[in-house]
Amino acid sequence: MTRRAPDSCPGVLRLHRAADGPLARIRLPGGQLTPARLAELAAITTDLADGNIELTSRGNLQLRRVRDAAALTDRLTAAGLLPSRTHERVRNIVASPLSGRLGGLADMRDLVVALDEGLCAAPELAELPGRVLITLDDGRGDVSALSGDIGVHAVGADEFALVLAGRDSGVRIGAATAVDVLLTAARGFLALDSGQWRLHDITDGPARVLDHLGLTPAVEPLEFTAAQDDPIGWLTQDDGAVTLGAGVRLGTLPARTAEFVAAVDHPILVTPWRGLLVTDLDEWAAEQVVRVLAPMGLIFDAESPWLRVSACAGLPGCAKSHTDVRADASDAVTSGRVLDGETAHPTEPISAGKITVGGRQHWSGCERRCGRPRGEVTDVTATPDGYRID
Ligand code: SF4
Repeated sequence: MTRRAPDSCPGVLRLHRAADGPLARIRLPGGQLTPARLAELAAITTDLADGNIELTSRGNLQLRRVRDAAALTDRLTAAGLLPSRTHERVRNIVASPLSGRLGGLADMRDLVVALDEGLCAAPELAELPGRVLITLDDGRGDVSALSGDIGVHAVGADEFALVLAGRDSGVRIGAATAVDVLLTAARGFLALDSGQWRLHDITDGPARVLDHLGLTPAVEPLEFTAAQDDPIGWLTQDDGAVTLGAGVRLGTLPARTAEFVAAVDHPILVTPWRGLLVTDLDEWAAEQVVRVLAPMGLIFDAESPWLRVSACAGLPGCAKSHTDVRADASDAVTSGRVLDGETAHPTEPISAGKITVGGRQHWSGCERRCGRPRGEVTDVTATPDGYRID
């Protein structure tokens, strides 16, 4: 898609006019969230929005039906969740969520912070399109698989592959120079003045950004393979502590559940698979967290059918939708019609109550299929005559 119209990506200062009311998107670089900030978000959505916190496929957060935009800005600013008014919509940084705690070749946590600070301190980078995604993969391949525009992929503790348009450029950089190189690459994207939203859409975009950087590929590029499974359930960290990976039904976290997660009082990450990690727990605390939060709807069982299902906003949030897809998808899960195996593909559209689908599936209210995950996914798409499955 060519960037002719103004960038319409929502933020806090520019709300999206959804069919059910104003929608705010809050950037959360690296998905990093403190308990105090999550507690405040729960209070904010209760006071000023619809009482839920939506998790996005970039590890960001959304609030729907915002009632008072000025109060929202004030409260998010006070909570430290809006550190830059000029750069809020370009802070799209996704990092391997388990980095520094479990597996991976490098610890990307400090890099997230340094890159975010560098981005916000560069006035010209406020012009980046809100769709540009920066990925920081610790070598396990989970976020490089998201095909960001610019990024690094650890090939050792202190050595990174430079990633451009979702592919290894063949350039290797040291950890100490990563922030500078990424910021210069972002400037290189802008210098192309291409009118495109994404580096992927620019002819020879990666090669032209390398020219801007003055860097030359030196090794055979790595092929990034499919990401591993979403982190769900009990995960023993390298230091012996426990991270709990929790799935969130259709990516919507009710304020009450968020309050309980915040009350655990441990560092939290929002994953790009619309889940949460509650980290650095001892075993006793982890057991109590599961005991309290599983009955509230958080998913700690990797086999749960909820983890196979994603859905777009649908009605009432999106006027383009033919139906309330989230209600239909939820009904399919709770009535046992989301299976683990193969899917039958009826030739004609069928009504929601007759749908039985196996495996990973994405329910959409129309053909645009917003929020569709990458990889092997069965599409369940609403039409004026019922759902099509393909
Ligand atoms: S897929 Fe269609 S109905 Fe769903 S959010 Fe996107 S535009 Fe709206």
